[in-house]
Amino acid sequence: MKHEGGRRNQAETGYRSVNTWMRRAFGGIVCAVVVLGGCKDEEEAPPPPPAPLPTTGPFAAPTYASYLKGMRICLDPGHGGRAKRKGYKRGPTGLREAEVNLRVAHCLREFLEASGAKVYMTRTRDVYLAEDEREDQRLRVEMANRNDCDVFLSIHHNANDANPNANFVSVWYHDDPDHSPASLDIARQLAVGLIDELRLPQQLGCPIMSDKLMYAKSGFAVLRQAKVPAVLCESSFHSNPEEEARLRNPEYNRREAHALFVGLARYAYAGIPRMRVVDPPDGLLPESGAKQLVIELNDGIRDRKSWGWDRPLILSDSIVVRQDGKDLPFTFDKQTNLVTVPLPSRLKLGSMRLEVRFVNLFKQSNPKTSLELKVVRKLPLNRPVAKALKPPLPAPATEESE
Ligand SMILES: [Zn+2]
Repeated sequence: MKHEGGRRNQAETGYRSVNTWMRRAFGGIVCAVVVLGGCKDEEEAPPPPPAPLPTTGPFAAPTYASYLKGMRICLDPGHGGRAKRKGYKRGPTGLREAEVNLRVAHCLREFLEASGAKVYMTRTRDVYLAEDEREDQRLRVEMANRNDCDVFLSIHHNANDANPNANFVSVWYHDDPDHSPASLDIARQLAVGLIDELRLPQQLGCPIMSDKLMYAKSGFAVLRQAKVPAVLCESSFHSNPEEEARLRNPEYNRREAHALFVGLARYAYAGIPRMRVVDPPDGLLPESGAKQLVIELNDGIRDRKSWGWDRPLILSDSIVVRQDGKDLPFTFDKQTNLVTVPLPSRLKLGSMRLEVRFVNLFKQSNPKTSLELKVVRKLPLNRPVAKALKPPLPAPATEESE
């Protein structure tokens, strides 16, 4: 379906395009708001016949799922426990969102663990982590932060009480796109994975959405408090009678989990860029005197030693080094992947924080963007010296051959 184009500011475009799209899709029914987990207190109606399932395929792992090995992934099945209360986040015939979220998470865990990923679950049973809702949400994301996870994925299903026809995929990130580009890398793969696998008849023009569309000031608590790449999936609408019937089917839950699994595997395959300070190796800088900082970038792919690994795998124009929001000058050596930042001869005592961003050839961003150094009056004696760096890449061949 064609959706609205035009140039408007981002928030406005988001709201209007969803509503315009809804109006067009549902012949004039205006969706006041897409309610996350809306309440249902109506009398129970007989369950509608389930819509035929789209063609299913085997749940085989893609070959590139091997790159999930060693990744730390935190799965957060939304809600649970006290959400048993009548009408709380239930579909038209009473299916509880919390149960579906948990079933999908268990299947996804199975797929991920079979591929060698380390999975952390915020809950494995029908429980709430704390009576207080804020505390419950804090505890969920804290698990991902504490374990320095590569991904925090909160699994939900959407509801729209005003429009039972609504049923589409959306994946949510915190704040604006600059907040965490790595979260967008994950969101993109999950959204396309879900759209391909679930084949819902509706789709948004852009399924990747900011949580500020829902809560303009704070966004979602679990995403706001994440210190690691974090997304929240609303895979489909349990308020849609046909979708509710499908969501009761464990095989369908497995398909959804498989879609998320394939999305995460694609994220892993694209390589996770990293960086580290190599000089000074102890992170200490003298307050005065000539000095520089050397940062080694890792594209997340080179260490696989795949054919062509010794070619540049970082987009050099993507590299940004900032301090207090200001770009700093630097040089980048494509052969060694080293970024050298000349520093002023006088620095302020105390901690010095830099932000470094770049993307690899899959256009995947480094999740950890912050570097912290310490400026001291006097450097200690017997400091470690910078270790020998990786040998530079071989010079490019001058002659072409096929
Ligand atoms: Zn939910």
